[in-house]
This record gives sequence, C-alpha cells and structure tokens, in this order.
Amino acid sequence: MRIFNFSPGPAVMPLPVLEKAAKELVSYGDSGMSVMEMSHRGKAYMEIQSAAESLLRGLMNIPQNYKVLFMQGGATQQFSAVPLNLCVNGKADYIVTGSFAKKAAQEAQRYIKVNVAASSEDGNFTYIPDEFNLSANADYVHYTANNTIYGTRFASVPKTGGVPLVTDMSSSILSEVFDISKFALIYAGAQKNIAPAGVTIVILREELIGHALPVTPHMLNYKTHADEDSLHNTPPCYSIYMMKLVLEWLKEQGGVPALQKMNEEKAKLLYDQIDESKIFSNPVAPRDRSLMNVIFVTGNENLDKKFVKEAAAAGLSTLAGHRSVGGMRASIYNAMPLEGVKALVGFMKKFETENK
Ligand SMILES: *Cc1c(COP(=O)(O)O)cnc(C)c1O
Repeated sequence: MRIFNFSPGPAVMPLPVLEKAAKELVSYGDSGMSVMEMSHRGKAYMEIQSAAESLLRGLMNIPQNYKVLFMQGGATQQFSAVPLNLCVNGKADYIVTGSFAKKAAQEAQRYIKVNVAASSEDGNFTYIPDEFNLSANADYVHYTANNTIYGTRFASVPKTGGVPLVTDMSSSILSEVFDISKFALIYAGAQKNIAPAGVTIVILREELIGHALPVTPHMLNYKTHADEDSLHNTPPCYSIYMMKLVLEWLKEQGGVPALQKMNEEKAKLLYDQIDESKIFSNPVAPRDRSLMNVIFVTGNENLDKKFVKEAAAAGLSTLAGHRSVGGMRASIYNAMPLEGVKALVGFMKKFETENK
C-alpha cells in the first residue's frame, strides 16, 4: 500500500511513473533486457538520454545557447565545480540563506575569493535578504533558489546588474516557471523533484565553458561533459531513464505552469492551516515562504515528536524537520498529490483538537 511521503529527498515520485518503470523493469521495449543492463553506447539507451534532454529543454524553455549536462556527485559536487569552472578573475559573491548556501560558499573559498553579499544567518535563515552587497568585477553571484531545510524561497530572481547569476535549484527546479535567460548556470540534484538520486542536472550558457582553472579535475570540467553530450564515461543511466519518465508525466500534467498552479494551491492549503492554528506556527516571513518545503512547529519539542509519530501512524510519513532545525517539515514536491496535502491538513486539525 502507498502512503503519503513528505520526505525532503530522496522524495515521492509520481505513481504512474513507478508503475511504468515496473512494467519495463525486466525488459525495456523489445530489447529483452532492463535499462539497468544496457550499454550506455547502445541505440536504445542513447535515445532515452536524448529524449530526456529534449523534454527538459521543452519544459523549461531552455534557450539554444545553453548546454544541458547530466553529471554525478549531487548538488554538493557542484559547490566545487562552479568556482573551478567559472572563475576568471578569482572572485565571486555568495548570498547565504541556508546550510547548503553556506556550504557552497565555504567550498568556493578553497579556490577563489568569496564575498558574502548577504546572509540571513543572524535570523536563523528565516528570511531572504533583499539587499545585496555585490562586489566589483565578481565572476558570478551564487544563490540558493529554495532553501530545503529552512523552508524559504526567493520570490524573485536577484538582480545582479549583469554579473552572471548561478543558482542551486535542487529543491525547486520544475516546480515553478523560471526565465532561464536570467541565469548563467543552474544546477540541481535530481532526487527532490525529478528522479531517483544519481543524476545532477547542469544548465549553463555555452560561453562559460572552457575557462576552468588548470587544476580542475577532468570529471569536474564542464567542457569534458559538454564535448561528449554527457557520455564521456558511464552516466547514471537508470536515473536518467527515470527522469525521462518523470518529464513525460510532467508534460502530461500540462507542464511547469500547470504544476506551479497546483504547487501554489497545495502550499496555500498548508500555510492557511498553520496561520489559522493556535498550536502550529511557521517562522518564515509570508513573502519568503517556500512552495516546496513547508516548516511548522508547536513550540514544544515533545508535542512536535508526538505529532510526527502519530502522523506516521496515520500514513503521513517523514514529517520531522531537519535535524538542525527540529519541528516539522512537509516537503510537497511536484509528485505530492493534492490529496496528500488535504490528508495532512485534516490530520493537523484533528491533532489540534486533541492537544489544545
Ligand atoms: C539536497 C540539497 C543539496 C544537496 O544535494 P546532494 O545531491 O545531496 O549533494 C544541495 N542544495 C540544495 C538546495 C538541496 O536541497
């Protein structure tokens, strides 16, 4: 039996996608073998990978002068790859709005000079700063579009006055419409909103390729992957196959605009419930609230634990907040159905009546 899974990542996948994968698990098409067992140089697999790329390009409206790369190592590996590849002057600005943003800045510091252009750490990352102290001739500005742990999101793309903008979009890619032309580079680990863990998507302007620092490991150099259509070595074939199925599903749902509408509706249901509640609260300024990760607390650690435990028993799984934050977090990515959010809201109401 399926339950409602609010895990922050790896996270819920669309049921029709899992069912299709199950059907094709043992023999893909008439190949007589699983996608897991195929050569990545064979025709069947190469078609899967190029279909995944064109679906992604279509769904995100990626302009022709951008390359799409399928890499490994998660978003975390991009914390190193970005400064190694994009640093020409040896300087970048980082907007620090959560632990992943902070880790990205710390890693970049190993190779280049990092200017923290703004930070919300003073307020426990409960808000998104709107003033940035940008430095002169930085190679890029880096920010985290959605902060998975703290439940905050940039409601609009930061303005950088022409400096290339880099974003970690791991937990919000494909959940809302983004104008790709505003970005120099976007990266995202797949396991939140796209596919099982294993593949990392990098979307970048072509002109940024080919300037990596000489020490850059070959496998971290974007040129290595761009020159060989992400087939320099064995890619995470099965994750890429699952990504293709998810992207097909997304297209059937009406694409990103339709999903965004659904995501706004789901988030509103939850935030309204929290705001009306006498026992639950959310520390984030309404303007900066995430559509993907909804944080709430009772203010009483034992009551939070009781909530998480009883919710799990009611088929609402993985609602504990990140270990560094506590409380509760409901991750409601694209694949979380509206019914799941309604079930959670119903449970919150019941819990409140029983624990006044
Ligand atoms: C999960 C997450 C990461 C870390 O991703 P890995 O793929 O585990 O390296 C980085 N940034 C954000 C915004 C995330 O949500």
